[in-house]
Amino acid sequence: MDERAPHESFAKLADETRVDILRAVAVAERDRESGGEEPYLSFSELRDRVEVSNSSRFAYHLDQLTGTFLHKADRGYTFTWSGERIVRTILAGGYGTPIEFDSVPVEGACPACGADALRAGAERVMIRVRCADCDGPIASFPLTPGLAADREPEAIVQAAERRTRSDFDDIFAGDCPKCAGRLDHEIRERDALPGDPFLTINRCRECLAPFGLPLSMWALSHPATVAFYWNRGIDIRSKPIWNLFAHLSDGGWTVEVESEPRTYRVTLREDEDELRLTFDADLSVTDVARLTSEA
Ligand SMILES: [Zn+2]
Ligand SMILES: [Zn+2]
Repeated sequence: MDERAPHESFAKLADETRVDILRAVAVAERDRESGGEEPYLSFSELRDRVEVSNSSRFAYHLDQLTGTFLHKADRGYTFTWSGERIVRTILAGGYGTPIEFDSVPVEGACPACGADALRAGAERVMIRVRCADCDGPIASFPLTPGLAADREPEAIVQAAERRTRSDFDDIFAGDCPKCAGRLDHEIRERDALPGDPFLTINRCRECLAPFGLPLSMWALSHPATVAFYWNRGIDIRSKPIWNLFAHLSDGGWTVEVESEPRTYRVTLREDEDELRLTFDADLSVTDVARLTSEA
C-alpha cells in the first residue's frame, strides 16, 4: 500500500511529459500481443513512445512517476494500481467540458402522475429521467464522458441504465461499485418512490461514495424474482428501472415492515400470482414465498 500523501502524489502529475508516459504505457498495454500478462516496458521502449527532447530529461520524469504511478521491475515498467486508475480517468477525458446531449423520450409512465411523458436528459454529471408533465424526477444515472462518447442519446441512456443495473448487483453483494470496498447499509423511512416508503443508503467505507436505492429494488436480483417473471415471458433484468417504478405506484408491488423482529416484505404481483420476499434489517433475504392461483 502506497502511504504517500495524496497531494504529493498528484503533484507528480503536474507535467505534460509524465502524463504522456502514463498514456504510452496504456497504449502499449492495449497493443500488446499476449493476453494475460502484465505489460512491462523497458526504459528504451518507453523512451521511443514518448516525445521528449533528451534522454536525461525523460529519465527524470520517469523517475518521478516510479513508485507512485509506475512500478519498476527487472523486466521494465508497469502501472501501479493508482497509475492504472488515473490513466483510465485521463483517457476517458471530459475535464472541464460539460457532457451534453438533447433529451430523448423514454418508454414508460410517470409513477407520480401516470403520464406517458418520460424524457431522459443530461443534467451536469447525471442523466435524469423526468416526467415532462409534472417535472418529477423519476430516476438518475451517472453520466461519464466515456458513456457519452460515440453514442447517440438513446444509446447513452440505455448504456447508463445497464451500468446502473450492474452497480445494483455490486451493492446487493455489499461491494462498492466504484472501488470494491465494503459497504455499510442503512434503511431509512423516507418516501423513496411512490409506493415504497424505504430508502436504503449504502456507503463505502473506503471511498465514501454513497448509493441510495429504494428497498423494493433489492428484490430485483433474487433468483426467485427473475424466475417469477421469466416464467411469465418477462425478462425483468432487461426492463428499464423507470418502468419498474410504475409497479409500485399502481399497487402491483408493495413494501411493508414488521416490527418484532424487524423485517421488510416486498410483494411482487403479476396477474393472480404473488411472490413475497422477506428481508431482515441487514437486507438479507430470509424467506421467499410463492402464492399462486394456479393449481
Ligand atoms: Zn408525472
Ligand atoms: Zn468505494
